[in-house]
Amino acid sequence: MAANCYWCTQAEPERESTPLGCCKRCQVFACNEHASYDNVILEYVCSTCTAAALTGSALTISISHSRDEKLSRFNNTFADFGRGGLLSKFKGLMEFQSRMPGYSAYFQLIDESNERPSWDDAEIDRELHDAGETAKGLYLAAAVLMAKLPFPTITDPNGESAFPEFLFGLRGKIVDQIQGEK
Ligand SMILES: [Zn+2]
Ligand SMILES: [Zn+2]
Repeated sequence: MAANCYWCTQAEPERESTPLGCCKRCQVFACNEHASYDNVILEYVCSTCTAAALTGSALTISISHSRDEKLSRFNNTFADFGRGGLLSKFKGLMEFQSRMPGYSAYFQLIDESNERPSWDDAEIDRELHDAGETAKGLYLAAAVLMAKLPFPTITDPNGESAFPEFLFGLRGKIVDQIQGEK
């Protein structure tokens, strides 16, 4: 049996896909929809791990008053991020786009989402606004990558999500938007 992309198989067990590499961090085989080569760390990284790196980067840069509590929850689960280990930080959307061209098919959706003035959800709008422009862009990139995955993403061993709660709402809005365009 040929190897398939782990994330494609999670979405549809019968789906055939061509993995281009193995994620540096979580070791899954992933296709070009669910992973990209990182031009700076010179490693292949899957969408889940990239979404985690983008979220951690957004939390590091965020100017929101609720940032510290969110960042500490994130670092408890992704201890490797806090240590500057396997998850590498992004300073902003432009760095993400130049480092990970494998996700270029999503760049337009990320830009459009980033420019959208409102998500018709007071909490999402407030969180994105409070985070500041740079962190907002990184949150949007994370939410788009999460929207392309079959399930939202990793929870910590206590079942509590390491990702800020509003990000799941944002992911849902982007999933609706993608489905509306089909
Ligand atoms: Zn895939
Ligand atoms: Zn991974």
